Amino acid sequence: MHSVNPATGETFARYDTLTPQQIEERLSRAQTAFESYRLTTFEQRAAWMTRAAEVLEARAQELGELATREMGKTLAAAVAEVRKCASGCRYYAQNAEKHLADEQIVTEAERAYVTYQPLGVVLSVMPWNFPYWQVFRFIGPAIMAGNVGLLKHASNVPGCALAIEDVMREAGFPADVFQTLLVGSRGVEAILKDDRVKGVSLTGSEGAGRSVAGTAGAAIKPSVMELGGSDPFIVMPSADLGLCVKTAVTARTINNGQSCIAAKRFIVHEAIYDRFVEEFVAGLAALRLGDPMLEETDIGPLATPAIRDEVHGLVQDAASKGATVLLGGEVPQGAGNYYPATALSGLTPEMKVYGEEVFGPVALIFRVADIGEAVSVANATRFGLGSSVWTQDAAEQARFVRDIEAGSVFVNAMVASDPRLPFGGVKASGFGRELSRQGLHEFVNTKTVSIGAVVDAHKSKTE
Ligand code: NAP
Repeated sequence: MHSVNPATGETFARYDTLTPQQIEERLSRAQTAFESYRLTTFEQRAAWMTRAAEVLEARAQELGELATREMGKTLAAAVAEVRKCASGCRYYAQNAEKHLADEQIVTEAERAYVTYQPLGVVLSVMPWNFPYWQVFRFIGPAIMAGNVGLLKHASNVPGCALAIEDVMREAGFPADVFQTLLVGSRGVEAILKDDRVKGVSLTGSEGAGRSVAGTAGAAIKPSVMELGGSDPFIVMPSADLGLCVKTAVTARTINNGQSCIAAKRFIVHEAIYDRFVEEFVAGLAALRLGDPMLEETDIGPLATPAIRDEVHGLVQDAASKGATVLLGGEVPQGAGNYYPATALSGLTPEMKVYGEEVFGPVALIFRVADIGEAVSVANATRFGLGSSVWTQDAAEQARFVRDIEAGSVFVNAMVASDPRLPFGGVKASGFGRELSRQGLHEFVNTKTVSIGAVVDAHKSKTE
């Protein structure tokens, strides 16, 4: 595996991938670690998780620089991401015990309750776009629940993958409670089929989701799928336009436009369309494209040349079929995978961008006549991750909450992940939830305990 700087194209580190025998050793160590780790108390796990938060905070600058060099996000965003991981660790350190407490249930038995127990070794397959946060939102709930974690990270961020293992070690977690496996995507199937691996959490593209969910399903193992998105950002006439435009610019270009929950389709009521488009395009045009290490940069390079080719291909396809390029749309000269903020209007279903997720700073703008059309354009995608709606009208807000096919609706705000709120999608955006209480319950055995059942042989039938 190679670390290649997206800003320069320079390869700055090389790593050996694991041999089958090394993978076998890691799996065996993970299983051994689980046998004792599952018996640790919440208090002990919380102490290690809190320590992980402290290590992340102390190393935020160094880890941030590594992420910027491997995948091109701006340094400010990378450092903020590491700090967010620390807050996620603290959230689970403080709340896991409460969310996983036994639940007493009144039945005819003397006592009945539900208790939540760890499953064992859980595999995570993660993307490069938030190379730390995606992993820590798996680590927080899975490890606090008493599971042991394995990480197969994206092949372009091996340095970040190993750094996470190092953070967990430095935090004091017992050996092998969390291990990074440097393996390519072809290695995932055999690992997931191994009897010692009890489940998988994947964050990535739809294609990866189909493949990994298929393997998990065939092996009858639980899986969480956090896949792509093409989130709508709906603007109604009563929107606070200033805040809405400012948020729209950020929501489309966050992480250089490479976020699953970036706003990708701007669906604007005709009464406010011209003003919104003029101000939105001006806001995008004002962003500075450049070296992600520099403080003044707003948009750094895309993570790989292939991603830039794909984004540009979608823009060219739309333009060739009649879309209007309001801004950008041209590949800059020189080294690095740079792509400028781009805005397209006049989009029709024959254009590939209409149905695909655009993983780069390209805004698709749609004009609609009323709320009914806004909802139908919002839902005219196979994805259903997040959504952002802008209106002061309570009835319109309620309609969007009821009718938008997505895992979240953010009203007068951009979609963002928060450890306190469940996160996930519907349709091709996946299933299962990360974060909050729901995230903790994905990889546990919900065990029913019933003590001293009262059986009246004459009245009850037994099952
Ligand atoms: P990706 O190509 O699907 O890769 C994600 C991970 O899956 C990587 O570790 C990759 O390994 C692995 N992988 C790919 N194909 C696989 C297969 N057939 N079998 C097993 N593993 C496989 O996605 P990406 O380009 O890194 O990330 C971007 C995608 O992730 C976007 O679609 C984005 O929307 C989505 N995403 C979703 C969320 C969410 O929470 N819903 C969050 C962030 C990103 P290799 O690198 O070795 O190929």
